[in-house]
Amino acid sequence: MPASALIDSVEQALRPLTYARNVAWWDSQVDASDENERRRAEFELAYSDALSDRKLFAAVEGSRSAAAAPVVGRQLDLLSNLMLPHQVPDALRARIVELESAVEVRFSRHRGVVAGAEVNDNEIKRILRLSDDPAERREAWEAAKTVGASVADDVRQLARLRNEAARALGYRDWFALSLATDELDEGKLMTTLADADRVTAEPFARWKGALDERLALRFGCATAELRPWHYADPFFQETPVEGSVDLDPLFAGKDIVSLSRRTFDGIGLEVEGILDRSDLFPRPGKCQHAFCIDVDRSGDVRVLANVVENHDWADTMLHELGHGVYDLGFEESLPWTLRSTHLVATEASALLFGSLAGAREWLERVLRIGAAEGAELESRLRAARVAEIIVFTRWVLVMNAFERALYADPDGDLDSTWWELVARSQLLAPPDGRRAPDWAAKIHVAVAPVYYHTYLYGAIVALQLKSALDAAVGGIVDRPEAGAFLATRLYAPGQSVRWDHLVEQASGSPLSVDSLAREVAAA
Ligand SMILES: [Zn+2]
Repeated sequence: MPASALIDSVEQALRPLTYARNVAWWDSQVDASDENERRRAEFELAYSDALSDRKLFAAVEGSRSAAAAPVVGRQLDLLSNLMLPHQVPDALRARIVELESAVEVRFSRHRGVVAGAEVNDNEIKRILRLSDDPAERREAWEAAKTVGASVADDVRQLARLRNEAARALGYRDWFALSLATDELDEGKLMTTLADADRVTAEPFARWKGALDERLALRFGCATAELRPWHYADPFFQETPVEGSVDLDPLFAGKDIVSLSRRTFDGIGLEVEGILDRSDLFPRPGKCQHAFCIDVDRSGDVRVLANVVENHDWADTMLHELGHGVYDLGFEESLPWTLRSTHLVATEASALLFGSLAGAREWLERVLRIGAAEGAELESRLRAARVAEIIVFTRWVLVMNAFERALYADPDGDLDSTWWELVARSQLLAPPDGRRAPDWAAKIHVAVAPVYYHTYLYGAIVALQLKSALDAAVGGIVDRPEAGAFLATRLYAPGQSVRWDHLVEQASGSPLSVDSLAREVAAA
């Protein structure tokens, strides 16, 4: 069969299944009922079954070397990457899918308990941001970890099963397989992470030293007595108020959704259709996180969020819509297979827009704070931006090293490994005598495995894009030229260009920590 006919037949098989799976996923996230969960698992399995088709995979592999046109070769590469992880024995594949679904549903239903009452993630975060009572903070922090104890055995089992699958395909472990099918070079990743460690270690230690002084003052203890619950979120992955600028008061009473709409209107990118299809506010039984999903690669793009009136959710809405405008931006003529994004490129777009919620120009023009207030905030916002990127970078170092350890040995002493990594990279003092699978409370370990480094790559690329936009059109806010720049250079090509080449083409330079080093040095 000629390669183009082969691609057509793969598309005919995958397209309806992809759509059905996406709709079922969406339904299960907006309403975690047993019925929705059953349907989600069913469609996930049907999709996975199609990707596991051995004859089809062999045909794709066989055509790759012979593909004449680059557009055909590129589609075959992507199909091969998509299908490869599914070329494992059916029984093993089914066990992985079932276990993933079971763990995920436990995450969406689980609620921690504080002061005898069930609390959701927003409530836990609120306590960790605002409470001055160390005992209450500790209880909230511990409540955030209880989900870990309930899923840890299953997450270890998932890692074992994923490794078994990866080895059956000739890879060292699931970590190595994931990087390969994401078109990420492991050597380049390790070098980049080591570079990121090097450029952030000293600024982070200095920044955290100052933060600890302030926290010790606030909680009336010595800095040596600070423990993880003294920081402002369960994993110290975000900048605490003490190390940043508390922008929440500026967002009180504001309509976060209209502000998001207004942001994209200002640069000529349409989001109304996305907002119409979205599910944006908190409700019991609904996924507590946020995501954007391209349901059909033809305009049905939706966001799930749990918007409350604060800076965090303004950032998140802009972030998710930053994914959404990408999904709506593929060139019309692109074939279905290429109407998709690489994780790094789409995260870069999302992070670029999310960061606007903490940028002076956006606060003045979109949130409409006064110019004097903007000027007063400027240097603190810059410091906060640097704090955010160093805190985040240190957290990604933990996640990446942890997942490498998890897949290297799922039976290892992961509880200790976790706290060693947290102490080393985040400079947090582990709670005295704690023995608990705190690593398993991070949902990504279970359901978005070997993914976190793409956030760091995305953050680095977002900085590169920001520099390119500053140079080309003077910024982002209210500049339709900025929207056009992103639309043409980043969004339109879809995956017709490999992600690393796309980054270079869009930002003018290959991915490197130079942009990160520059940003951090500006502190
Ligand atoms: Zn994202």
